[in-house]
Amino acid sequence: MAQTSDQPCGLSTIRSLQASLAGRSEFSLRLGRAYLDMGLLDAALSALTQIPDEGEEGQQACRLRLEVLARQGAHASVLELGRQLAKDVPESTWPWSYMANAAFATGDRARAEEATLRALAYLPSGQDVVSCLAETEPGAEQPEPLALVRACADVGVGPHATIDCLLPVLWDARPTTCLFEDGIEFVSGAAMETGDVQHGLLGLARYLFAQYGIRTAFLRYGAVGSGTLRPMGKAYFSRTHDLHEAVDRLERLYWEEFRRGEGRGPASEQALRAEGALLGYPDCCVEWAARLREAGETIEAAAATALTYEEGTASELEDPRVPAPAAAYYAFEFYPCDPRCLAAEARGQHMLEQYRAAEGAVADLVRDRVIRLNKGRIWQMGRVNSYPQFVRAINAELFTASLPDWQRNWLQASE
Ligand SMILES: [Zn+2]
Repeated sequence: MAQTSDQPCGLSTIRSLQASLAGRSEFSLRLGRAYLDMGLLDAALSALTQIPDEGEEGQQACRLRLEVLARQGAHASVLELGRQLAKDVPESTWPWSYMANAAFATGDRARAEEATLRALAYLPSGQDVVSCLAETEPGAEQPEPLALVRACADVGVGPHATIDCLLPVLWDARPTTCLFEDGIEFVSGAAMETGDVQHGLLGLARYLFAQYGIRTAFLRYGAVGSGTLRPMGKAYFSRTHDLHEAVDRLERLYWEEFRRGEGRGPASEQALRAEGALLGYPDCCVEWAARLREAGETIEAAAATALTYEEGTASELEDPRVPAPAAAYYAFEFYPCDPRCLAAEARGQHMLEQYRAAEGAVADLVRDRVIRLNKGRIWQMGRVNSYPQFVRAINAELFTASLPDWQRNWLQASE
C-alpha cells in the first residue's frame, strides 16, 4: 500500500494516541506488527523504534525493524542494525539471515556467504559430525520391525523424517535420503526444545550412528531467487562411508557457483546432477531435471503438467508394455522424468519390496498414503504444505504411543 505525506482523516488522533502511549512497549509492538501487516512500513518503523532494545519485547521489536528495513530495501540500515544485534545477542542466528540478503543485494557476495554460514551456524558442519562420531562404533544391532519408528519418536524425530528418510536407509531401500530445511526442525523437536540446536543435532547424529549405523550430514547454502538470498540447509542420511565427503563436495560446489555469480534458483544444473547422483535417483530423471534447469524452466511445473496429463488421460494411455505408475513417486520432493518412468517405478517397487520384507504395515502405509501424498504435493506445486497431512496419516496408522508435546502443538498450530 502506498503511503502519502497527506494525513488521512483520523491520523492526527492516532498520532496523539501513539504519543500518549509512547513508552508502553507492548502497545507499540502490536501497533508495529499491525502496520507491518498492512504494508505501512514507515508507520511500523516509527512505532517499533519507540521500544527499548532490552528484554523479550525489545528483541521482537528489533526483529520486526529488520523485517521493515529489509522490505524497504534499506540494505545499509539492515547491515548496521544486524551487526549491532549480532553483537548484543550473539547466540541469535536470525540477524544474520537479514544481513546475508542485504549484503547480497549490495553485490557483496563474500560478505553474503559469510553471513549465510553464520545464519546456519545451528547446523553442524561435516567436520563437526565426523569429530563427534570419531569414538562411536556404528550400530550392528538388527532392530526389530518398527523399533526405529518408536525410538525416533522418543528422541524427537518427526514421522516424516522417519518414514521418508530413515527407514529407507535402514532397510536398504534407498542409498541416501535428504530432508529440506523446513523439515530439519522436524528432525529433532527435542533438540530444538533444549535451545542448543547444534548440540541436539550432533546428539541425534551420534544416536542414529551408534544405534543403526545411519550417518547424518548437513548441507548449508544460500538459495538465490527473485533477486534475494535465503540461507537454506538440508540434512542427508546414509549408511555409506563417504556421505560426509560427498555432502562436503556438494556444499563446496554450491558456494563456488555462488561466488562466480552462477546458479539459477537453488542450484545450477551441475549441482543438481551431483545431488541427483548422491541421492541415487535414476539417470534419466536427473538428466531431465538438469536440462529443464539449464533451459531456465521450472521442474515442479513440468512435473505437475505431466502428472495432470497422466491422471486425466490414463485410460487412453493404457499400454501393456508400460505399467501404470504405482511407485514412481517414491520419495518426497523427487520428480520422475515421466509419470511412467520405468527406472523410477523400479526404484519405488524395490523400496516397497524392502519395506515388505522388513515390515508389511509400513509397506502398505507407504504404498497407500505416502506415495499418494508425494504425487499430491507435486499437483499443489508447493502451494500447500503437506507435512501436517503426512504426519496425521502416519500417526493415525502407525503410532500407538502418544505424541510428544512439541509435535502435538505443531499439529494444532497447523490446523
Ligand atoms: Zn526417469
